[in-house]
Amino acid sequence: MNIAIFGAGQLAMMMIQADHNKEHNYVVIDPTHKPPASHYARHIQTEYNDKNTLEIISKECDVATIDFENVPVEAMRSLEKDIAVHPCANALDICQDRLKEKNLFLDLGIGTTSFYKVDNIYDLSMNINDQKSYILKTRRFGYDGKNQYRINPGDKIDTELTSQECILEELVDFEAEVSLICIRSIDGHVLFYPLVENKHENSILSMSVCPSQYSELQSKAEEIGSRLLMSMNYVGVLVVEFFVTKQGKLIANEMAPRVHNSGHWTIEGANISQFKAHIIAITGQLENTQIIDYKPTIMFNILSKFIADDKLKILRDKYNVYIHDYLKTERKNRKLGHITYVCDKANNLSEDIELLSKIIQ
Ligand code: AMP
Repeated sequence: MNIAIFGAGQLAMMMIQADHNKEHNYVVIDPTHKPPASHYARHIQTEYNDKNTLEIISKECDVATIDFENVPVEAMRSLEKDIAVHPCANALDICQDRLKEKNLFLDLGIGTTSFYKVDNIYDLSMNINDQKSYILKTRRFGYDGKNQYRINPGDKIDTELTSQECILEELVDFEAEVSLICIRSIDGHVLFYPLVENKHENSILSMSVCPSQYSELQSKAEEIGSRLLMSMNYVGVLVVEFFVTKQGKLIANEMAPRVHNSGHWTIEGANISQFKAHIIAITGQLENTQIIDYKPTIMFNILSKFIADDKLKILRDKYNVYIHDYLKTERKNRKLGHITYVCDKANNLSEDIELLSKIIQ
């Protein structure tokens, strides 16, 4: 098939790399110069909603997908008239807006934190109870903790975020953060990976571990994932991020309508990577007989600065890790690559994490 990917970052790159037998042809659309996936596929360097490009894609391609969730919904709606778009524009519309996302959680009876629509500073002051802590977030274009403002009891509020449409969320006193990677095929067949436990530094994902310590929450998480997939008639990989409360309950935080950083471990740690799973789901090749099998795995993000060569040598020679380099220039807080370590036994996980973290830092 001819597949168009809107966004040509490392996620698109890893989707194309996952097609080991080169079964499909790919074209990537991205306004930036030489993004990671442009080294692996034809790159059209334009804005995502460029009319000519959308016409070319609708003539040349069978299916379109995304590696970047903020592709304009209207561009995807217009493509949908001619070719398959997975995930569909409707799902994208919901996942791009934190308020729509949270309202969907409520409509489906999925636990989430208390939240309020905030369109101006007046709405903000009306909804704050000065005994509680909150996070103010813009409804759109927030990622890696960007466009967020923490409000603690008694704080004097000083933020310009309310010049945009926002959502005010009560702060969740969580014990852990986990994510569920869900896959749904065109004919409605659904698969899930085990819950992944995620650690963040400065609100940016730094480490993912699979399995999480919360296997007892797997069936509840899958039930939530199924409801979300069905309600949006979703096809492809969808990732749901949760908080685990101190009482052991799942609270849905947000969704990513695409393959996700917390699923990078699946390249070496699972029988089907999230990237391969996405491609086979959107091309109608996911079979009812397929199951997810995995080994305990740790993934560390490489942020800001690539790891020095001497450390890389130790990691490769002594610990047999897999090193992924996205070939990006170094910049503060930029995701430059990741390291995957597949463990022999689950009960070594915490020791391995400690050991490897020391070398990587
Ligand atoms: P988000 O962009 O919503 O994923 O937020 C980034 C990070 O901020 C999350 O991974 C959490 O660590 C933290 N965070 C976001 N929302 C909340 C919340 N309502 N309560 C507590 N922590 C939060």
